[in-house]
Amino acid sequence: EAAIAISNLCKTYAGGKRALDGVTFDVPRGQIFGLLGPNGAGKSTLINTLAGLVNKTDGTASIWGFDIDAHPRNAKASIGIVNQEILFDPFFSPFETLEIQAGLYGVPKAKRRTMELLRAVHLEDKAHAYARTLSGGMKRRLMVAKAMVHSPPVLVLDEPTAGVDIELRQQLWSYVRSLNAAGVTVVLTTHYLEEAEELCDRIAIINNGRLIANEPTRELVGKA
Ligand code: ADP
Ligand code: ADP
Repeated sequence: EAAIAISNLCKTYAGGKRALDGVTFDVPRGQIFGLLGPNGAGKSTLINTLAGLVNKTDGTASIWGFDIDAHPRNAKASIGIVNQEILFDPFFSPFETLEIQAGLYGVPKAKRRTMELLRAVHLEDKAHAYARTLSGGMKRRLMVAKAMVHSPPVLVLDEPTAGVDIELRQQLWSYVRSLNAAGVTVVLTTHYLEEAEELCDRIAIINNGRLIANEPTRELVGKA
């Protein structure tokens, strides 16, 4: 069974913009899967549909076998999503941010899990600082830790390295690789082909709301 299965997904926004126009693909379990496409292609709309933030117009989607309409809470429990926007309270510390998130998901041993995550993203030293005092890179790592708090089998990163310097990019990539090596299926959106090439086992290309390619990276790059 696929980690994510998407069938005929359509989204027309109020105002008439057709952001997704019948998108169908599976993300196989265990992979790092890249969703590539230019700005405005529909990548965020697709991710936000999986997150339950956008109401699709038509089609179906399931996460780890759970249909997002029929079993929304199971679907949500199976996925961690890192949005483009930085989303946490600037006056809570990283420790508090993660502990609260753990509470929301009913994660057992919340303090222990929180410390484990802070170590994994190298934020132990900042555990009790105001989140607003973190650098951009640290904030992004905190976002990833927050998405992983409930140990979902699938992690989705929406444009993880947009506006991020090369050093931080390397750090994020190595963390993503280590999560994948530990069994997490990873989906990332990007408009950088090089990023998708370097990281992903498989790449799907979306343009104008339609899927125009979906192949193992090796084959896709071989054709270019
Ligand atoms: P729903 O997902 O419940 O159908 P919409 O996302 O269509 O709701 O409604 C949000 C409103 O916000 C839209 O009508 C649109 O005018 C506006 N909006 C938000 N983001 C954008 C954007 N990136 N481009 C154009 N309009 C936007
Ligand atoms: P990407 O993430 O690939 O840049 P998006 O999914 O953000 O693409 O946007 C796809 C299209 O839908 C764009 O034309 C964008 O302007 C439009 N769009 C995105 N959000 C909204 C919204 N809330 N309301 C109306 N149009 C939107």
